Order: sequence, then C-alpha cells, then structure tokens
Amino acid sequence: MKTVGILGIQGDVAAHARAIARVGAASRRVLRGEEIAECDALILPGGESTTISKGITRLELWEPLRAFARSGRPLLGTCAGAILLAREARASDAHERVETLGVLSAVAVRNAYGTQVDSFAGILDPGAAEAVAEFRGVFIRAPQLTELGDSVEVLARVDEQPVLVRESNVWAATFHPELGDDPRVHAAFLSS
Ligand code: GLN
Repeated sequence: MKTVGILGIQGDVAAHARAIARVGAASRRVLRGEEIAECDALILPGGESTTISKGITRLELWEPLRAFARSGRPLLGTCAGAILLAREARASDAHERVETLGVLSAVAVRNAYGTQVDSFAGILDPGAAEAVAEFRGVFIRAPQLTELGDSVEVLARVDEQPVLVRESNVWAATFHPELGDDPRVHAAFLSS
C-alpha cells in the first residue's frame, strides 16, 4: 500500500488525509526530512504560503522537498502548496515575498482572483485529463498559474485559466480538491 506524506506545517492536512483514505491509500503527516524521504507520494496542502514557506525554512526542509521532487515520485501542491512549487511567487499587492521550491515551470500569482471574490466554486473543463471532467473545484483566495513552461501539461481549466497542471511527476491544483467528497483528483494523482 502506498504511503502518502502530507506536509504538516499549516493548512488543511486533515481534509487531504480523508481524501487519500477515500482512494484506499495510507497517509501520514510529515514534518522532518527523513519522513519526507520515506513517502511514496507527497502533498503540500493549501493554507497560507508565507506561513508554510517560513516553516520550511525553520524546519530545514527546502532540500528534502527538492530532493523528493527530483526523485520522480508524485508530488502535488494545492493552492498555497501550488504556490510553493512554482519557480516564482508574485503578488499583485504589497504581500511579502514568498520563497518557493522552483520545481514547477510556472509563475504563481497569489490571490489572483482579487480580494472581493475571495472564494468561489468552478466546474473544471478538462484539458488533458478527462478523468476530472465536471469536477467542482473550490477556490479560496486562489492563485493563478502563468508563464507555463513547454513541459507543463494543462489537465483542467476554469474560465480558460489553467487550474490543474502537471509537469512530469509534479502536479499543481490552484483549487482545493480535498474539500467535498469527490476523490478523482487524488485518484488521478496517485495513479500517476
Ligand atoms: N492566498 C493564499 C496564499 O497566497 C493561498 C490560499 C489557499 O491556500 N487557500 O498563500
């Protein structure tokens, strides 16, 4: 049975654990480099990317996380987690700079849907991933992914915007696939 690590610094760790249980895999909350190295797949949850980034520095996890990405095992970042994967995080307002892993060829624009519409649900249009057609994505102060590299595959869009992308083993969702009871994004990720 696969063990999926969920980075446990901050964010919706418990909801991801429930989604993973629904697709029949085991999960564990990880906070140390050795724990990350032992996992078969890894999820960086949504939350607040500034907080998670600072936690990664405090726990000295930048290199263990980059090593995991290089190992070729499946790595999924959702919302703030997607921001942390990007080669650069930008903010349209005066947010402080967020250090990122730089393992996804994309720029993440934080809070890109503005401050008035902080939260909405959007139905996914499949790009390369028919398996997630009509998935109801919950977007909470969500980022947008721009300047995608040639090797980034768009798996789904909402209103033309890429919301689920994949570059080799690295997956990023700008929404929260762990909210609700539809496990198809986790299932697709874990079967990759
Ligand atoms: N707006 C948050 C950030 O920039 C992300 C929000 C989320 O993960 N739901 O980190």
